[in-house]
Amino acid sequence: MKFKRVVIKVGSHVLTENRAVSKERMIDLVDLIAQLMQRDIEVILVSSGAVSAGYTVLPLDRLTIGNKQVLASIGQPLLLKMYQEKFAKYNLLCSQILLSASDLDSKKRTHLAQVTIDNLLKNRVVPIINENDVIATEELVFGDNDQLSASVADNFGAELLVILSDIDALYTKDPRKYSDAKTRKEVNYITDKELEDMPSPNSEFATGGIVTKLKAGKYLLDRGRKMFLATGFGLDDIKSFLLDGVHKGGTLFKR
Ligand code: ADP
Repeated sequence: MKFKRVVIKVGSHVLTENRAVSKERMIDLVDLIAQLMQRDIEVILVSSGAVSAGYTVLPLDRLTIGNKQVLASIGQPLLLKMYQEKFAKYNLLCSQILLSASDLDSKKRTHLAQVTIDNLLKNRVVPIINENDVIATEELVFGDNDQLSASVADNFGAELLVILSDIDALYTKDPRKYSDAKTRKEVNYITDKELEDMPSPNSEFATGGIVTKLKAGKYLLDRGRKMFLATGFGLDDIKSFLLDGVHKGGTLFKR
């Protein structure tokens, strides 16, 4: 499978280590993006991690939404500064786009964003999208950008959404609870019942859980697009899939 434009979404769980943004994981991610761009694959990044970046300079209790908004507001420029430094090593520029899901409800605003994103990509700039947490709290409350990234992939013309998660694939049931859970390599459809049965978020840092990934998958399948769920702790599986066309680990959602 050869893609012209992909969206890569990295979850807060993956980017965070010991409550701070993990430099190594960010370096790996930026290296992957640089390799994709070398092969003329356009990449839009949807990155969480602003709350963790904010927490490193102001350790407020992250359990309240108000505090998370404060931390995201402090952390967003810090996060982008880290990305800029890493991309600079490859002579690449990145840019910041803060969106709320409702921005994409409006045709006019969606169109304006589409034009800007096309122009950024034409100039070989990597757009880094995050939810605008100051005026929208969907990411902080639920979703961890899974839904936003699906919407971004659909509205900005990406054939594939890559979700880099703390789990290496979709399993038949929660692998942390059931030792007999099996990986699912390919998913062609998702039923409403499956969505209802799936458990919700699992930690102080992550807000998504597998259900938001399945919802994102269903949304994209319904719109003729694809999704790949892979681990963000080590990028071998996603590199193999995107760069070598070999599906080793990870789950591909496609019709
Ligand atoms: P992220 O931080 O990448 O947004 P989450 O931690 O929110 O991801 O969600 C992934 C978690 O969902 C996994 O670590 C796993 O414990 C849990 N989970 C529950 N059911 C499943 C399943 N069927 N397949 C895979 N993971 C599952």
